[in-house]
This record gives sequence, C-alpha cells and structure tokens, in this order.
Amino acid sequence: MTLPDWMVTLVATASFFCFLFLCVRHRRKVQVLCRKVFSNIMARTEKPLFRIAYTLYTKTRLGYLYYKRQMRKAREQYPAGHSTSQPMEFNGIKIIPIPVLSDNYSYLVIDTASSVAVVVDPADPQKVQVVKAFVIFQAVLEEEGVTLEAILCTHKHWDHSGGNKGLKRIHSSCRVYGNAADSIPGLTHPLSHKDSVTVGRLHFKALFTPGHTVGHMIYLLDGRTVDAPSSLFSGDLVFLSGCGRTFEGSSTTMLSSLDTVASLSDETLLWPGHEYAEDNLLFAAEVEPRNAARENKSQWVLLQRAEKLCTCPSTIGEEKQYNPFLRSQSEELHVALGVQQLQDEDWTQFRARVLEELRKRKDLFNRR
Ligand SMILES: [Zn+2]
Repeated sequence: MTLPDWMVTLVATASFFCFLFLCVRHRRKVQVLCRKVFSNIMARTEKPLFRIAYTLYTKTRLGYLYYKRQMRKAREQYPAGHSTSQPMEFNGIKIIPIPVLSDNYSYLVIDTASSVAVVVDPADPQKVQVVKAFVIFQAVLEEEGVTLEAILCTHKHWDHSGGNKGLKRIHSSCRVYGNAADSIPGLTHPLSHKDSVTVGRLHFKALFTPGHTVGHMIYLLDGRTVDAPSSLFSGDLVFLSGCGRTFEGSSTTMLSSLDTVASLSDETLLWPGHEYAEDNLLFAAEVEPRNAARENKSQWVLLQRAEKLCTCPSTIGEEKQYNPFLRSQSEELHVALGVQQLQDEDWTQFRARVLEELRKRKDLFNRR
C-alpha cells in the first residue's frame, strides 16, 4: 500500500513538531546529551567526526561562539576564579598566575624595577564579556602600576589567545608574539624556534613545540639575570603530570616537543596552561601505582585542591619523576604498560608508540 503524498507530508511535519516539542520540554536533558556527545567526539582525535568538530572550533565563528558561552558559564560558576593563586617573586621579577575560565591559567610576569609586564596567554576575547575579563588583567596591571608591553601566546586555541586583540586595543603599543603557523589573533611579531623576546629585565626564549597545534610555542624565562630558577610557560604542551592532546601532528612530533621540555634543567619551574593536576595524578597512579614520587605529589595536590589552591609551579625535575608523558624512556613505565620494543623498531619509534599507548589509556580514563 502506498500512502498519498499529503499524508506523508502531514506525518513528517507532525513528527518534526513532536520532536521539537520534546526537545523544548526536555531541553536540560537534551543539552546534557548534546554536551556528552560533543565531549565524546572531542575525546576521539582520530575519528572523522572529531576532525569536523575541531575544524569548526578552530576555523569558524562557531568555535568562537562556543568559547564565549564557556566563558560566560565559567564566570557565573567561578566569580572569583577557579583557584586561588599566590604570586611568586624573585629579586624584582614577579609571576602572577591568573585563574580564568573553568581551569585555565594566564600569567602576568612583571619586572618591578622598570614597571613593565608581559602576559602569557590572555584567555579572553572582545565585546561585553571580554570587557569583564579585561577587568581581571586591567585590575592587576593597575594595582601593580605597570605597563603591558607584550603578549606571549602559546597557541591559537581561544582559551589561550581569545584576549589578544582586546588587550591590544587597550594597550596599543603592546606587541603580540607567537608562531605564524598558528592563526594567532592580533599577531604582530611572529617567532621561530629559539628566538628571544626581551622586555625590561625579562628575557624569554621561544621554543617551537608543535603537536598540540601546528605552531605551538613555549616560553622560557631566563632566571639567571636575577639569580633565580628559570620559568617555563608551557601552554598546552605539558601540565602537572600530564600532556596536551596531539591535535595537529603525529606522536613523533609530540615526542620531540616533549623532549625539548625534558632537556631543560631540573630546577626550571613549570607554569602550565591548565589546572589539571588532580585528574592527571589519578591517571598516573593507575599507570604507575608504585611510583613513590607520584604518591608524594598526589598527597600534596589533594591538600591544595581541597582548598582550591593553585598547584603550580612544579619543576621539570619533579615532572620527570612522575609525569608518564615525560617518562617514555622509563623501563618501569614500559613494564607497567606491558609494551616492549620490537626487533626492527628504533628507539624513537618505540617511545612514540609508548606515548600513543598512554594517550589511548588516558582517553579511556577520561571517558569513565
Ligand atoms: Zn589548546
């Protein structure tokens, strides 16, 4: 039997409106479901659906709108910031972590002798919401009585670069640094591997570390001029006990970037782009349950997070002891993961495979 066209149209229209009605009626559930589906897609970097979602996030206005929404929600949820951070000062060089969004950190680095400052990854865009976010930076800048001379941007993702243009509008002579391979908003000074940036007594070295994005950079503040440890602003390459996702590159590329971090001196302070310490250490505990350094750090982090205190900085030396992503050469880790170097596999290939295995396990861990 064939239904007449008008009946098919009627049934289709009625079904559509029923669906719409149900969506509106149960919009909270639909929103939760959509968020779950989106998070699931974003957690699977190898899948075509992820590629589409990622392209929309990085290359279209949709990504920006999504980001703005996240920002608005984070401000409602954490009006005073997601964590409490303590500034650190070494002989007139001050580092202030600024908690933004739901788990990001931007950093204000000040040379108090010449009253100039640099911001690393100002995470906030323009217009209404942005104005509020600038208040954070502006308030700190005004309170400290310093002039913003440069923005050091680690990569293009909105939660690291969204505030570049707006801040530049307020501080017109402020320079915006980053790598040209990433589409960094407001970029004025493209950087290459090992380029230097100097502002007052602040001497930074830019290091090219692709993998998370194609133009990811990290910034090493030289501590020698003030007789202090150096500081690494690592963006989304390395976190306390963790590593950023490889969105734009291979595991070999990521391994090489992680090796750049591991080659720095053990005393170097690590200032990452996100507050992920608690989760990352739980994952590390699953991978290496008998790692004593990780256990000690976990105890400390739990105490800090119970009071919503910032967990940075750690040091590169510490990270090499418990961060699984910086331990791809460790035999203990290979045993814990149950991976072995194959006969015709070179050492770099093998370590890249260890990273892939870690990433796979971390994805499963995140989905639980
Ligand atoms: Zn990122």
